[in-house]
Amino acid sequence: MSKILSGKEVSGRIKSELKEQTEILKKNNIFPGLAVILAGDDPASRVYVNNKKKACEEIGIYSEEYTFSSDVTEDEILDLIDELNKKDSISGILVQLPLPKHIDEKKIINSINPKKDVDAFHPVNVGKIMTGNYDFVPCTPAGIMELIKESDIDITGANCVVVGRSNIVGKPMAMLLLHQNGTVTICHSKTKELKEVTKKADILVVAVGIPNFVTGDMIKPGAVVIDVGINRMPDKKLVGDVEFETAEKVAGAITPVPGGVGPMTIAMLMKNTLKAAEINAKKGVNR
Ligand code: NDP
Repeated sequence: MSKILSGKEVSGRIKSELKEQTEILKKNNIFPGLAVILAGDDPASRVYVNNKKKACEEIGIYSEEYTFSSDVTEDEILDLIDELNKKDSISGILVQLPLPKHIDEKKIINSINPKKDVDAFHPVNVGKIMTGNYDFVPCTPAGIMELIKESDIDITGANCVVVGRSNIVGKPMAMLLLHQNGTVTICHSKTKELKEVTKKADILVVAVGIPNFVTGDMIKPGAVVIDVGINRMPDKKLVGDVEFETAEKVAGAITPVPGGVGPMTIAMLMKNTLKAAEINAKKGVNR
């Protein structure tokens, strides 16, 4: 039986620390604010946005939500971001992805002021993550690093395998593990003999978006297994990319779905919003 890395529990602790920090910031006349932009009618995105707003309320962060229908134009979103970039009460801007297909996601992300880019998707922030000199870390990989800290495995020298190479999870995850001296392998849909690679992992992070993709026989005994996947099954049940039942018999520590990486992602978004408020207060958003 493996240790359960409960994101619900750890994120709860982090959020209460962030609540205290928010109070201190407010006493110093720094008022963090998050703007969330949602376009289209993806039900999962709606749930994520609601959870983000709820977390802001819990911590004491001011939030604004902007909702557009799926026929919104690119210019409408760009105009709003331009306005939010200049707005003093807003320290962080988050555009909930995916956007409707006719919108160029890259163009939208590139229009966010990097100092308000709390998702850390802007090329300036992506570049900073490469060099290890960063202000914001993408929320999901940042949350995963916190969860790994809760396990007994030291990242230094560990074989770390990341399955998935998306810009929002796989690639930044690999960089963070590398900065902590992990020996990192990134796998993707063209990787040959995947099982041979995953079986060597001391730390295995799975972000593929396929339900129950990694099974117990693909895991090294005692490994830390981080399941990023959130897949809604036809019976409405949420499952991860790792088959929990077989994996937990082999792993040393494992994240559940739900209650693992998901709540950590939101806690890290809150952390980035506070950081943005501090940065913008010190340097000003336009400097
Ligand atoms: P993407 O679809 O952007 O990327 C999936 C990655 O998986 C790709 O790199 C793809 O490879 C790889 N892949 C697909 N099939 C295979 C295969 N057979 N073998 C090996 N690799 C494969 O997904 P995301 O990174 O955005 O998300 C992944 C999952 O994580 C989803 O379930 C998503 O819902 C969840 N998620 C959860 C979050 C949370 O807070 N818990 C936050 C963000 C995402 P290739 O590049 O070759 O196509």
